[in-house]
Amino acid sequence: MDETQKLKEQIAILEFKINELEKDLIHDSLTGLRTRDFFEEETAVYLSTILKVEEGKRKDWFGFRNLSVLFFDIDNFKIINDTYGHDVGDMVLEKVSGIIKQSIREGDTAARWGGEEIVVSLLGANEADAKSKADDIRARIENYVFELKPELRVTISAGVASYENGIDLHELIKNADKSLYKAKESGRNKVIAFSEI
Ligand code: GH3
Ligand code: MG
Ligand code: MG
Repeated sequence: MDETQKLKEQIAILEFKINELEKDLIHDSLTGLRTRDFFEEETAVYLSTILKVEEGKRKDWFGFRNLSVLFFDIDNFKIINDTYGHDVGDMVLEKVSGIIKQSIREGDTAARWGGEEIVVSLLGANEADAKSKADDIRARIENYVFELKPELRVTISAGVASYENGIDLHELIKNADKSLYKAKESGRNKVIAFSEI
């Protein structure tokens, strides 16, 4: 092999490694979902775009002005870990993440917020659309039978919040989190929207 050929191969290997590193940076390793950092950056860009469109500073290329956030948290996950062990807990988290990912559209984003909390952005969805999507996901998880542990039943609660009046990412997440808290408080395996609290 001549020197040029060798160099080309080395460059190809390096490009492959860079690609892998970039994937690691934006994906959570356990769940395969996006990272929280990625989610925050992307959602902030969406929100500022919507605001600019509202203020007439930007053309409404996409034809939408809504953005909703679903904030999920697995119910009694500590009990699942304590009863079945951490490995089963991890398997549940992976499966729940997979169900959520499969239930959303191509342009929507699901990310691991932390621990067993998963956040989803739905572009173009108003609060009613978002609540119905969250409730779909909630029901799919409630009815899912884990092959390895058929006796195990997992449920999830969700808070829903939508963009309104120029609110920023921090406020939007806070509203979704407050709604999630209400869903937990009212018995779990529930979806509550911010307008309901
Ligand atoms: P609640 O219904 O109020 O949400 O109850 P909970 O037990 O799910 O809530 P809590 O936040 O107290 O517990 C979350 C647990 O999730 C505690 C922590 O050990 C576990 N956990 C967080 N990350 C992981 C993980 O990556 N794998 C596993 N197996 N467990 C995790
Ligand atoms: Mg929990
Ligand atoms: Mg939690």
